[in-house]
Amino acid sequence: MRVAGHARRGWYNRRGGPGSAIILMYHRVADVSDDPHALAMAPQLFQEQLAAFVREFTVLPLQELVGRLQRRDVLPRYGLCVTFDDGYADNFTTALPILRACGVPGTFFVAGAGLDAAYRYGWEHHAPDLYEHVDAETLAAAAADPLVTIGGHTMTHPHLAQLNYRQQLGEIADNRRMLADITGQAVTLFAYPFGWVEDYRASRQAVADAGYAAAVTTTAGLVTRRSADLLELPREDVHAMPADAAVAFLRHAFGG
Ligand SMILES: [Zn+2]
Repeated sequence: MRVAGHARRGWYNRRGGPGSAIILMYHRVADVSDDPHALAMAPQLFQEQLAAFVREFTVLPLQELVGRLQRRDVLPRYGLCVTFDDGYADNFTTALPILRACGVPGTFFVAGAGLDAAYRYGWEHHAPDLYEHVDAETLAAAAADPLVTIGGHTMTHPHLAQLNYRQQLGEIADNRRMLADITGQAVTLFAYPFGWVEDYRASRQAVADAGYAAAVTTTAGLVTRRSADLLELPREDVHAMPADAAVAFLRHAFGG
């Protein structure tokens, strides 16, 4: 008998538990000669990781995970969501073709100021030529792909905890409007710049008031129905690990 894909991959959650998911965070997929902030991973490694993840886990769009949490619906036994931060051009020229080849959905959190090709974020000033941001035209084309979701990441990538509420709301809401105009789609997911606890605790109200349904941090952790706070969803980072090590790391994070 041929077992249906969903059953084989654990949607029925054979142990009877409520399931869980891990949200992965990436920044760049590129062969780079210099990477002082360790943001990039080689395309070959990214492809190997995704191929292994599709075999081992149940990949799903972050939007679907959020919808299931909102409805208090069952989660997969080993759910996995792929996200990218900052809006680098290689996300769309290099990572997206690999995501498509593996059938893996991706959510891309794009800061607004970088859509101006000359703009550089704070960590890029030391070597501006190392970094290329996506442009609005590429972003609009990518957003039409059903595997792609575009999410917000503020305009200028500030430490939100250092801003007052009014400034936070401006950064967050202006970016959301801009991305909605470019993509023609509602933007419902947000990633906190830097994503540290002081940043998201200080700005989650502004994120909610800007109209976002859910937001991700850079605090490590497992997403379960019991623990999930939709405005503080944790993420894991496996970007430099060989595929086997990444699978072992995630299995451990899932609880074995
Ligand atoms: Zn960022």
